[in-house]
Amino acid sequence: MSAIKCAIAKPELVRAECIEKNENPELAERFEVGSVPHTVFNEGAHQGLGLMPEERFVAELIYLKSAEELLDQGLLPGQEEGKAPSGFGTIEPGEVDLVIIGAGPAGLTAGIYAVRAGLKAVVLEKHIVGGQVALTPVVENYPGFTSVPGKQLMDIMSEHAREYVPVHEGEGVESIEMGDLAKGESIIVTTNRGTYSAKAVILTMGAAYRKLGVTGEDKYFGHGINYCASCDGYLYKGKSVAIIGGGNTALTDALHLKNLGVDVTIIHRRDSFRAQKPLQDSLEREGIPVLWNTVIDEFQGDGKRVNNLRIRNLMTRAVSDLPVDGAFVAIGQVPATELAKSLGVELKPDGFIKVGPDMRTSVPRVYAAGDLTGGLQQIVTAIGEGSIAAMSAFEDVSHPYWKE
Ligand code: NAP
Repeated sequence: MSAIKCAIAKPELVRAECIEKNENPELAERFEVGSVPHTVFNEGAHQGLGLMPEERFVAELIYLKSAEELLDQGLLPGQEEGKAPSGFGTIEPGEVDLVIIGAGPAGLTAGIYAVRAGLKAVVLEKHIVGGQVALTPVVENYPGFTSVPGKQLMDIMSEHAREYVPVHEGEGVESIEMGDLAKGESIIVTTNRGTYSAKAVILTMGAAYRKLGVTGEDKYFGHGINYCASCDGYLYKGKSVAIIGGGNTALTDALHLKNLGVDVTIIHRRDSFRAQKPLQDSLEREGIPVLWNTVIDEFQGDGKRVNNLRIRNLMTRAVSDLPVDGAFVAIGQVPATELAKSLGVELKPDGFIKVGPDMRTSVPRVYAAGDLTGGLQQIVTAIGEGSIAAMSAFEDVSHPYWKE
């Protein structure tokens, strides 16, 4: 979308083409496309993997370097002036009531509720709005929408949120200093663009895909190793793929891939699934094979793409090879708790943030909502938690319970 916009705005400078990988296998092979979206600038002078915020796309287009390199060199838009990104609905870093970190369903909802309650709030998102939902092809359990692409749902949600609250994409939080509560000091939130002084903070950074941590996993990421079946599954139509895991995600992914015409095998480390029974029944009906009590020792390939899994049976200790065209790792989520830990926020034994029914954490003035708090991890629960967190922050900003 960003490329097309650039081509329309500056046709004398930019030409853009969208290419469907399955219809152009020779191009996909030439540029080693293993996941989508994959942006190739100037015949490969620079390449970008994944969705990019508009500012990031433009910066990478101008400099033909990754945003991380540009950040190191101080060349990201706004960085040199220490300003917020220009454009609709943004504010300069400064004094606010509430900083919301993360622009998935929980963060956007918290923004709407906070501003409607009268708080001056800002939503900061280090990548682009939407969180993991934006990567889901179809959402079928969000009330009011029988079936809606995840990206479209999040576009609708973020458009609604921006009616009320500034949402800054590409603005990552680097540190939070709580200040002295007894002295009524503000919370200082430092980002790659500046510093906010706030009365409260809501953490809604979600969770990221858990990695197996075995040899070859990083090397072949995006080149046969994937974490999002709904994003990349269609690249494997007619090919052989292994799915690693035994939870709801692994089984949902297996059924999704099978439905796309992929030859799927599940690899699970135990002799039973933790996934819901109806999913297990569907798996059996579809005749999807399972390698039980089996782990991956190594992802192997030809240097460019993964083509073999070195696997080990935990009962017999037998090591064998499973030739594949790709693998999907579906072994759960790791909550993004680094900032929470730095504040001393209490976590639950499973690593997610401990909150009360009012979404308050163990640290006054800090709230959490969405996937970060664990539990059901659905869009509807994230939205519910986001609204509760915002109302609790509003109550505490107006009548601090720690002063009573
Ligand atoms: P999950 O329920 O935590 O399951 C993770 C699976 O990966 C488990 O089977 C686990 O094995 C395995 N695993 C973990 N670490 C591993 C390792 N290092 N090596 C090999 N295997 C490993 O995660 P999830 O399936 O992603 O689900 C996350 C949440 O989203 C859950 O609350 C789930 O209910 C929800 N969800 C719901 C739906 C739905 O409603 N249809 C769909 C997807 C997800 P063990 O079983 O041996 O521990």
